[in-house]
Amino acid sequence: MARLVLKFGGTSVANIDRIRNAARHVKRELEAGHQVAVVVSAMSGVTNQLVDYCKQASSLYDQKEYDAVVASGEQVTSGLMAIVLQEMGFDARSWQGWQIPLRTNDAHGSARIQEIDGSRLIEAISGGQVAVIAGFQGIAPGDRIATLGRGGSDTSAVAIAAAIKADRCDIYTDVDGVYTTDPRIVPKARRLDRVAFEEMLEMASLGAKVLQVRSVELAMQYKVRTFVRSSFDDPDSVGVDSHGNPPGTLICDEDEIVEAEVVTGIAASKDEAQISLRRVADRPGVAASVFGPLAAESINVDMIIQITSPDGATTDITFTVPAIDHERAIKVLEATREKIGHFGIESSTDVVKVSVIGLGMRSHAGVAAEAFRALASKSINIRAITTSEIKISVLIDAPYTELAVRTLHSAYGLDKQ
Ligand code: ADP
Ligand code: ASP
Ligand code: MG
Repeated sequence: MARLVLKFGGTSVANIDRIRNAARHVKRELEAGHQVAVVVSAMSGVTNQLVDYCKQASSLYDQKEYDAVVASGEQVTSGLMAIVLQEMGFDARSWQGWQIPLRTNDAHGSARIQEIDGSRLIEAISGGQVAVIAGFQGIAPGDRIATLGRGGSDTSAVAIAAAIKADRCDIYTDVDGVYTTDPRIVPKARRLDRVAFEEMLEMASLGAKVLQVRSVELAMQYKVRTFVRSSFDDPDSVGVDSHGNPPGTLICDEDEIVEAEVVTGIAASKDEAQISLRRVADRPGVAASVFGPLAAESINVDMIIQITSPDGATTDITFTVPAIDHERAIKVLEATREKIGHFGIESSTDVVKVSVIGLGMRSHAGVAAEAFRALASKSINIRAITTSEIKISVLIDAPYTELAVRTLHSAYGLDKQ
């Protein structure tokens, strides 16, 4: 007997038929003798609709009320899943975040989990009841409902798996695992059997939305065995292999990966804005005067390039910030003109960051050079570059995204044979 968390994403609970199908996966695990906690997302499209209602109600809506509105999608599916399981003859009940309780901080809209008391859930599932938990939500200080940021049900699932000491956390979604890149963009993408936590963290934070970044951090921290798998597999014909692994991708420790690939995957993120400062005075302390105020406003600067202007006396500084901080960043920069003198500001949100990720990069030279060569062969211009031990990111013009991802995917030999 094992204790399992099964998480179903939006497309997997998009209507009552899909909920019934998801429930058949739950049934299979129950009949194998396992204890099961289920975490559900809102039906696909519902959260977007709820966010849109908030925007229509006010352009400057209160984040606490936003959370009250958007958390409701998961409340609906948790109840529906419990009803369907009951109809199939199982003992099941729904749990909202506050009932567990799953406590968060007060960063409404993208709250972080602070504490989960797993005792009531453990008591329920040990007695044979299925706990159907509304993902994405918790309770913040002041007893206000909070949500965990878009895609946050993944994080609910992994955090609950850690809190109830589950043997496995299965993330059921609309693809049968983690691929070398988004399989909807590159049909030649290959499914990966295993991905190391560090690689998955980079892939998720650089645009692969298959798992929320925070869920990977928690899986890594608490050593939760996390599998990404398909809810569309026939529930009656899937089982576990001789190692007890279900079909899908295991997110695991590096030492569980037999042979690290040089490059594991390619990701693309549209959530970037490029800002270029033209003809900034070229003297010590200028970079600090530019980036200090941005940091003080918690605006995260990623790629940075500085080049001397053609006149030799000034410098051009180009960098990226998250697209949502674009306008705020411009305001902050305009204010710094008083301190360091006049400079021009140009910016664009029509840019994309494409990244190449792989643990094996640590021990291989020439990986970046290969990316530059491949992109040049398609005449794709690189606006900025940033690297870390296991990733290389380049900023390019948005219209070239698909071409760049496909080109890099082939260049590193990732295409399905
Ligand atoms: P859910 O609603 O189940 O949470 P999401 O839409 O959040 O599902 O995530 C699944 C989607 O992630 C897939 O449909 C796929 O298009 C996308 N995706 C992006 N990158 C990858 C990748 N490297 N591997 C698998 N899926 C990916
Ligand atoms: N329903 C939420 C969203 O769409 C959370 C989730 O599905 O993970 O962002
Ligand atoms: Mg998701």
